[in-house]
Amino acid sequence: MLHEKLASIYDSVLRRNPGETEFHQAVREVLESIGPVLGKHPEYAESKIIERICEPERQIIFRVPWEDDQGEVHINRGFRVEFNSALGPYKGGLRFHPSVYLGIVKFLGFEQIFKNSLTGLPIGGGKGGSDFDPKGRSQREIMRFCQSFMTELYRHIGEYTDVPAGDIGVGGREVGYLFGQYKRITNRYESGVITGKGLSYGGAQVRTEATGYGCAFFVEEMLKARGTSFDGKRVVVSGSGNVAIYTTEKVRQLGGTVIACSDSSGYVVDEKGIDLDLLKQVKEVERLRVDVYAKRRGGDAVFVAGRSIWEVPCDVAMPSATQNELTGRDAETLVRGGCIAVGEGANMPTMPEGIRVFREAGVSFGPGKAANAGGVATSALEMQQNASRDSWTFEFSERRLQEIMRDIHGRCLQTADEYGMPGDYVAGANIDGFKRVADAMLSLGLI
Ligand code: NDP
Repeated sequence: MLHEKLASIYDSVLRRNPGETEFHQAVREVLESIGPVLGKHPEYAESKIIERICEPERQIIFRVPWEDDQGEVHINRGFRVEFNSALGPYKGGLRFHPSVYLGIVKFLGFEQIFKNSLTGLPIGGGKGGSDFDPKGRSQREIMRFCQSFMTELYRHIGEYTDVPAGDIGVGGREVGYLFGQYKRITNRYESGVITGKGLSYGGAQVRTEATGYGCAFFVEEMLKARGTSFDGKRVVVSGSGNVAIYTTEKVRQLGGTVIACSDSSGYVVDEKGIDLDLLKQVKEVERLRVDVYAKRRGGDAVFVAGRSIWEVPCDVAMPSATQNELTGRDAETLVRGGCIAVGEGANMPTMPEGIRVFREAGVSFGPGKAANAGGVATSALEMQQNASRDSWTFEFSERRLQEIMRDIHGRCLQTADEYGMPGDYVAGANIDGFKRVADAMLSLGLI
């Protein structure tokens, strides 16, 4: 239920942003949490902070023309939504996926404001991408697309302005091509203009692993708060991209067994535990589908086409593929199967009905804003290293990441307690993330 004042703000968001359903969903979730804050802080409502936060500072949409290997010309659409820079330069990834449109980029950018705030680091919120589909494209086509994309984007970004990174469809290879083109156009080696770079040209240790490792650290804290641990737990991780792979790696190190993963074609169950070397070979090196994993693994590994991975019973669920991939019905199935904790590696993977089911069943639920913040936090550490021309060791960087995740977990719980909603990580994350941005905006005048 929305507080009356917030309901009218939400109506205006619906009116001003028609058809952008994912953006509406992301805004509603935050507004549902911050009602109690308005009671304590009337100054936020008086200065229309919430209305201002819901309106991006700047939205850029541009043409991306490129030529495929057969010489055919394609036109894609590029986006960068610079949502909020009260805490620092806009920071957030680029997504290349055919489903990308303004509503997706705005939902991701909006979430990013609060996530970045929660890290406690000096980064604002933004997000971008394109409706380009990298699947089935050759290396040279990917490079030409990235070069064309950056040929427009370069004028909008910079170490002190806006710092992109990867997301779905944008990994180390794409970041390399994007940075190469930026450097070529500007004739400046500005390492801090993009994060997720390779280690040989300004990248940071642990950035590749950070979102997945961070999510596993966050869930470890949630389990600890329930008096248990990953030890002996059956874990299901959806997706098989960057976040899913490194979540699987860290969960295993922490004593859990990941028994299933997926991609958009279906899921694989491997009761002995996912073989990470094989998964990395199939997905990261050869860029094939998960059924190939099951075929090569043999034994008991089974591929199930076109069904929801959430039908696999588990103790811990870690949705790490995409938005709205876990429905209310999936949540009921998970609860019936004995699931006690959910950590969102992806952004907004659980539908509102699913969150309600988890809440009512007493499942510990770590929302993406908090649980997957390790990625952007480590990006901010990459920016620090670039600015000081330094590079830290893997061990030091991982320790920093773990401390940041523990801190976010602790603040979510503490804030939820303070506002009378003990154990509610969604409320804790939204309120804590919101307050830091709102206070900075108040101090900066009418911006
Ligand atoms: P990748 O592109 O590396 O992997 C995405 C994975 O999710 C693939 O297995 C993909 O399968 C699957 N997937 C994507 N879309 C769909 C869909 N519509 N239905 C089913 N499966 C799908 O992306 P990341 O691992 O980087 O990102 C995953 C999630 O984590 C996203 O929500 C992203 O926003 C979030 N995130 C990522 C961060 C990062 O640092 N990379 C940081 C914080 C959040 P297929 O190959 O078949 O499409």
